[in-house]
Amino acid sequence: MGRLSGKTALITGASSGIGRAIAARFAEEGARLLLADVTETVREGGEPTQEWLAKRGHDVAFVATDVSDEAQAEQAVEQARARFGRLDILVNDAAIGNGKPLTETSLSEWNRVMAVNLTGVFLMARAAVRLMLTQPPQDELRGRIVNISSQHGMIACPEDIAYGTSKAGVVYITRQIAVDYAGHGIVCNAVAPGKILTGKTGRAVEPRWMDYSTARTPMPRLGRPADVASAALFLASDECSFMTGENILVDGGWMAG
Ligand code: NAD
Repeated sequence: MGRLSGKTALITGASSGIGRAIAARFAEEGARLLLADVTETVREGGEPTQEWLAKRGHDVAFVATDVSDEAQAEQAVEQARARFGRLDILVNDAAIGNGKPLTETSLSEWNRVMAVNLTGVFLMARAAVRLMLTQPPQDELRGRIVNISSQHGMIACPEDIAYGTSKAGVVYITRQIAVDYAGHGIVCNAVAPGKILTGKTGRAVEPRWMDYSTARTPMPRLGRPADVASAALFLASDECSFMTGENILVDGGWMAG
Protein backbone atom coordinates (compact mmCIF):
# COMPACT_ATOMS: atom_id res chain seq x y z
CA MET A 1 0.00 0.00 0.00
CA GLY A 2 1.38 3.38 -1.01
CA ARG A 3 0.94 6.49 1.08
CA LEU A 4 -1.62 7.79 -1.46
CA SER A 5 -3.28 4.49 -2.39
CA GLY A 6 -6.88 5.05 -3.42
CA LYS A 7 -6.41 8.83 -3.73
CA THR A 8 -6.88 10.99 -6.80
CA ALA A 9 -4.83 14.09 -7.48
CA LEU A 10 -4.85 16.99 -9.93
CA ILE A 11 -1.42 18.59 -10.31
CA THR A 12 -0.83 21.84 -12.21
CA GLY A 13 2.54 22.63 -13.74
CA ALA A 14 3.26 18.89 -13.83
CA SER A 15 5.14 18.83 -17.13
CA SER A 16 8.47 20.05 -15.76
CA GLY A 17 10.59 20.57 -12.70
CA ILE A 18 9.00 20.39 -9.28
CA GLY A 19 5.50 19.58 -10.57
CA ARG A 20 6.88 16.64 -12.57
CA ALA A 21 8.71 15.35 -9.49
CA ILE A 22 5.52 15.65 -7.43
CA ALA A 23 3.60 13.72 -10.10
CA ALA A 24 6.20 10.93 -10.11
CA ARG A 25 6.28 10.72 -6.33
CA PHE A 26 2.47 10.71 -5.98
CA ALA A 27 2.16 8.02 -8.68
CA GLU A 28 4.75 5.83 -6.94
CA GLU A 29 2.69 6.18 -3.77
CA GLY A 30 -0.42 4.90 -5.50
CA ALA A 31 -2.36 8.03 -6.49
CA ARG A 32 -4.30 8.27 -9.74
CA LEU A 33 -3.35 11.50 -11.46
CA LEU A 34 -4.62 14.20 -13.77
CA LEU A 35 -1.80 16.48 -14.91
CA ALA A 36 -2.64 20.03 -16.03
CA ASP A 37 -0.15 22.24 -17.83
CA VAL A 38 0.03 24.63 -20.79
CA THR A 39 2.48 22.28 -22.50
CA GLU A 40 3.62 18.66 -22.36
CA THR A 41 7.19 19.62 -23.26
CA VAL A 42 9.59 18.79 -20.44
CA ARG A 43 11.81 21.77 -19.84
CA GLU A 44 14.68 19.67 -18.48
CA GLY A 45 14.25 17.07 -21.25
CA GLY A 46 12.78 13.59 -21.32
CA GLU A 47 9.45 12.01 -22.14
CA PRO A 48 6.26 13.91 -21.31
CA THR A 49 5.29 13.23 -17.70
CA GLN A 50 2.05 11.47 -18.64
CA GLU A 51 3.74 9.04 -21.06
CA TRP A 52 6.68 8.47 -18.73
CA LEU A 53 4.45 7.53 -15.79
CA ALA A 54 1.88 5.59 -17.85
CA LYS A 55 4.68 3.38 -19.22
CA ARG A 56 5.55 2.52 -15.64
CA GLY A 57 1.99 1.31 -15.10
CA HIS A 58 0.50 4.33 -13.40
CA ASP A 59 -3.01 5.69 -14.00
CA VAL A 60 -2.17 9.16 -15.35
CA ALA A 61 -3.92 11.51 -17.77
CA PHE A 62 -3.06 14.97 -19.09
CA VAL A 63 -5.30 17.97 -19.73
CA ALA A 64 -3.99 21.05 -21.54
CA THR A 65 -4.74 23.89 -19.13
CA ASP A 66 -3.78 27.50 -18.70
CA VAL A 67 -4.53 27.95 -15.00
CA SER A 68 -5.11 31.68 -15.46
CA ASP A 69 -8.12 31.01 -17.69
CA GLU A 70 -11.34 30.55 -15.71
CA ALA A 71 -12.98 28.14 -18.15
CA GLN A 72 -9.84 26.02 -18.53
CA ALA A 73 -9.26 25.83 -14.77
CA GLU A 74 -12.85 24.72 -14.24
CA GLN A 75 -12.59 22.24 -17.10
CA ALA A 76 -9.51 20.64 -15.53
CA VAL A 77 -11.35 20.07 -12.25
CA GLU A 78 -14.42 18.81 -14.11
CA GLN A 79 -12.21 16.37 -16.00
CA ALA A 80 -10.83 15.08 -12.69
CA ARG A 81 -14.39 14.58 -11.44
CA ALA A 82 -15.44 12.81 -14.63
CA ARG A 83 -12.37 10.57 -14.67
CA PHE A 84 -12.11 9.66 -10.98
CA GLY A 85 -15.54 10.44 -9.54
CA ARG A 86 -13.77 12.28 -6.73
CA LEU A 87 -10.86 14.68 -6.28
CA ASP A 88 -8.88 14.13 -3.09
CA ILE A 89 -5.83 16.33 -3.74
CA LEU A 90 -5.15 19.50 -5.71
CA VAL A 91 -1.53 20.62 -6.10
CA ASN A 92 -1.08 24.17 -7.40
CA ASP A 93 2.46 24.20 -8.79
CA ALA A 94 2.20 26.14 -12.07
CA ALA A 95 3.95 29.50 -11.96
CA ILE A 96 6.10 31.87 -13.98
CA GLY A 97 8.71 34.50 -13.14
CA ASN A 98 9.39 37.88 -14.68
CA GLY A 99 12.86 38.81 -13.44
CA LYS A 100 12.44 42.58 -13.31
CA PRO A 101 12.45 45.19 -10.54
CA LEU A 102 9.61 47.65 -9.95
CA THR A 103 10.69 50.40 -12.34
CA GLU A 104 11.23 48.01 -15.28
CA THR A 105 8.05 45.98 -14.87
CA SER A 106 5.31 46.77 -17.36
CA LEU A 107 1.68 46.53 -16.36
CA SER A 108 1.14 43.62 -18.75
CA GLU A 109 4.10 41.72 -17.25
CA TRP A 110 2.76 42.35 -13.74
CA ASN A 111 -0.72 41.26 -14.78
CA ARG A 112 0.50 38.06 -16.43
CA VAL A 113 2.53 36.96 -13.41
CA MET A 114 -0.41 37.67 -11.10
CA ALA A 115 -2.79 35.89 -13.47
CA VAL A 116 -0.79 32.67 -13.53
CA ASN A 117 0.75 32.58 -10.05
CA LEU A 118 -2.09 33.97 -7.94
CA THR A 119 -5.33 34.08 -9.94
CA GLY A 120 -4.45 30.58 -11.19
CA VAL A 121 -4.32 29.33 -7.61
CA PHE A 122 -7.60 31.12 -6.86
CA LEU A 123 -9.37 29.63 -9.89
CA MET A 124 -8.07 26.09 -9.42
CA ALA A 125 -8.74 26.12 -5.67
CA ARG A 126 -12.22 27.58 -6.13
CA ALA A 127 -13.20 24.91 -8.63
CA ALA A 128 -11.64 22.14 -6.53
CA VAL A 129 -13.21 23.27 -3.25
CA ARG A 130 -16.63 23.55 -4.91
CA LEU A 131 -16.26 19.91 -5.98
CA MET A 132 -14.77 18.75 -2.68
CA LEU A 133 -17.69 20.26 -0.77
CA THR A 134 -20.02 17.88 -2.63
CA GLN A 135 -17.93 14.82 -1.69
CA PRO A 136 -18.58 12.71 1.40
CA PRO A 137 -15.64 12.80 3.84
CA GLN A 138 -13.10 9.96 3.65
CA ASP A 139 -10.77 9.57 6.64
CA GLU A 140 -12.44 12.70 8.10
CA LEU A 141 -11.63 14.91 5.09
CA ARG A 142 -13.29 15.97 1.87
CA GLY A 143 -10.07 17.07 0.23
CA ARG A 144 -6.61 18.56 0.47
CA ILE A 145 -4.91 21.42 -1.33
CA VAL A 146 -1.14 21.79 -1.54
CA ASN A 147 0.10 25.12 -2.91
CA ILE A 148 3.69 25.59 -4.02
CA SER A 149 4.70 29.00 -2.72
CA SER A 150 8.31 30.19 -2.30
CA GLN A 151 10.62 31.58 0.33
CA HIS A 152 10.15 34.73 -1.76
CA GLY A 153 6.55 34.90 -0.60
CA MET A 154 7.96 35.87 2.80
CA ILE A 155 11.10 37.82 2.01
CA ALA A 156 11.90 40.04 -0.96
CA CYS A 157 12.71 38.39 -4.26
CA PRO A 158 15.56 40.58 -5.51
CA GLU A 159 14.63 42.24 -8.79
CA ASP A 160 11.44 40.24 -9.38
CA ILE A 161 8.69 42.25 -7.74
CA ALA A 162 5.78 40.58 -9.54
CA TYR A 163 6.92 37.05 -8.70
CA GLY A 164 7.59 37.76 -5.03
CA THR A 165 4.33 39.66 -4.59
CA SER A 166 2.36 36.85 -6.24
CA LYS A 167 3.98 34.29 -3.95
CA ALA A 168 3.13 36.38 -0.88
CA GLY A 169 -0.44 36.09 -2.14
CA VAL A 170 -0.10 32.31 -2.36
CA VAL A 171 1.03 32.14 1.28
CA TYR A 172 -1.97 34.28 2.23
CA ILE A 173 -4.59 32.43 0.17
CA THR A 174 -3.35 29.17 1.71
CA ARG A 175 -4.26 30.45 5.17
CA GLN A 176 -7.56 31.93 4.03
CA ILE A 177 -8.77 28.72 2.40
CA ALA A 178 -7.55 26.73 5.41
CA VAL A 179 -9.54 28.83 7.86
CA ASP A 180 -12.70 29.20 5.79
CA TYR A 181 -13.01 25.50 4.90
CA ALA A 182 -11.48 23.64 7.87
CA GLY A 183 -14.97 23.13 9.25
CA HIS A 184 -16.01 21.56 5.94
CA GLY A 185 -13.25 18.95 5.99
CA ILE A 186 -10.89 20.64 3.57
CA VAL A 187 -7.27 21.28 4.48
CA CYS A 188 -4.93 23.63 2.65
CA ASN A 189 -1.19 23.88 3.16
CA ALA A 190 1.81 25.10 1.17
CA VAL A 191 5.39 24.14 0.50
CA ALA A 192 7.85 27.02 0.12
CA PRO A 193 10.88 25.83 -1.84
CA GLY A 194 14.20 27.63 -1.59
CA LYS A 195 16.53 27.44 -4.58
CA ILE A 196 15.72 24.23 -6.47
CA LEU A 197 17.70 23.19 -9.54
CA THR A 198 15.24 22.45 -12.35
CA GLY A 199 15.42 22.78 -16.13
CA LYS A 200 14.82 26.51 -15.99
CA THR A 201 17.18 28.66 -18.02
CA GLY A 202 17.81 32.42 -18.05
CA ARG A 203 17.78 34.28 -14.77
CA ALA A 204 17.35 31.03 -12.79
CA VAL A 205 20.86 29.87 -13.72
CA GLU A 206 22.69 33.17 -14.22
CA PRO A 207 25.98 33.03 -12.24
CA ARG A 208 24.93 36.13 -10.29
CA TRP A 209 21.77 34.49 -8.96
CA MET A 210 23.33 31.05 -8.54
CA ASP A 211 26.07 32.62 -6.39
CA TYR A 212 23.42 34.55 -4.44
CA SER A 213 21.38 31.40 -3.79
CA THR A 214 24.42 29.35 -2.84
CA ALA A 215 25.55 32.03 -0.40
CA ARG A 216 22.06 32.20 1.15
CA THR A 217 21.73 28.40 1.55
CA PRO A 218 23.44 27.01 4.67
CA MET A 219 23.24 23.40 3.47
CA PRO A 220 26.13 22.49 1.15
CA ARG A 221 23.96 21.98 -1.95
CA LEU A 222 20.98 23.55 -3.63
CA GLY A 223 17.59 21.84 -3.72
CA ARG A 224 16.29 19.07 -5.95
CA PRO A 225 12.70 18.74 -7.17
CA ALA A 226 12.45 15.50 -5.17
CA ASP A 227 13.13 17.45 -1.96
CA VAL A 228 9.97 19.49 -2.57
CA ALA A 229 7.99 16.43 -3.71
CA SER A 230 8.65 14.71 -0.36
CA ALA A 231 7.14 17.62 1.55
CA ALA A 232 4.19 17.83 -0.87
CA LEU A 233 3.62 14.10 -0.38
CA PHE A 234 3.44 14.52 3.37
CA LEU A 235 0.94 17.39 3.06
CA ALA A 236 -1.16 15.37 0.60
CA SER A 237 -1.18 12.23 2.74
CA ASP A 238 -3.19 11.14 5.77
CA GLU A 239 0.00 11.54 7.85
CA CYS A 240 -0.70 15.29 7.72
CA SER A 241 -3.55 14.94 10.18
CA PHE A 242 -3.93 18.12 12.27
CA MET A 243 -2.27 20.77 10.15
CA THR A 244 -3.81 23.41 7.96
CA GLY A 245 -2.81 26.88 6.77
CA GLU A 246 0.87 25.95 7.16
CA ASN A 247 3.68 26.93 4.78
CA ILE A 248 6.56 24.44 5.06
CA LEU A 249 9.98 25.69 4.00
CA VAL A 250 12.11 23.31 1.96
CA ASP A 251 15.03 25.66 1.54
CA GLY A 252 18.22 24.14 2.94
CA GLY A 253 18.00 26.60 5.82
CA TRP A 254 17.77 29.80 3.70
CA MET A 255 15.09 31.34 5.92
CA ALA A 256 16.71 30.21 9.17
CA GLY A 257 19.68 32.51 8.67
P1 NAD B 1 9.26 25.07 -14.12
O1 NAD B 1 9.26 26.28 -14.96
O2 NAD B 1 10.32 24.05 -14.33
O3 NAD B 1 7.83 24.38 -14.16
C1 NAD B 1 6.67 25.14 -14.11
C2 NAD B 1 5.58 24.43 -14.89
O4 NAD B 1 4.41 25.26 -14.88
C3 NAD B 1 5.95 24.20 -16.35
O5 NAD B 1 5.66 22.87 -16.72
C4 NAD B 1 5.09 25.21 -17.10
O6 NAD B 1 4.72 24.79 -18.41
C5 NAD B 1 3.87 25.29 -16.18
N1 NAD B 1 3.09 26.50 -16.40
C6 NAD B 1 3.54 27.76 -16.60
N2 NAD B 1 2.52 28.59 -16.79
C7 NAD B 1 1.38 27.85 -16.73
C8 NAD B 1 0.00 28.15 -16.86
N3 NAD B 1 -0.42 29.40 -17.13
N4 NAD B 1 -0.89 27.16 -16.72
C9 NAD B 1 -0.48 25.88 -16.48
N5 NAD B 1 0.82 25.54 -16.35
C10 NAD B 1 1.74 26.52 -16.47
O7 NAD B 1 9.33 25.65 -12.62
P2 NAD B 1 9.77 24.97 -11.24
O8 NAD B 1 11.10 25.53 -10.88
O9 NAD B 1 9.57 23.52 -11.25
O10 NAD B 1 8.72 25.67 -10.26
C11 NAD B 1 7.56 25.00 -9.83
C12 NAD B 1 6.94 25.76 -8.67
O11 NAD B 1 7.90 25.91 -7.63
C13 NAD B 1 6.49 27.17 -9.04
O12 NAD B 1 5.32 27.47 -8.31
C14 NAD B 1 7.64 28.01 -8.56
O13 NAD B 1 7.26 29.35 -8.30
C15 NAD B 1 8.01 27.27 -7.29
N6 NAD B 1 9.37 27.56 -6.82
C16 NAD B 1 10.45 27.14 -7.54
C17 NAD B 1 11.72 27.43 -7.04
C18 NAD B 1 12.96 26.99 -7.77
O14 NAD B 1 14.06 27.36 -7.34
N7 NAD B 1 12.86 26.19 -8.84
C19 NAD B 1 11.86 28.14 -5.85
C20 NAD B 1 10.74 28.55 -5.16
C21 NAD B 1 9.49 28.25 -5.66
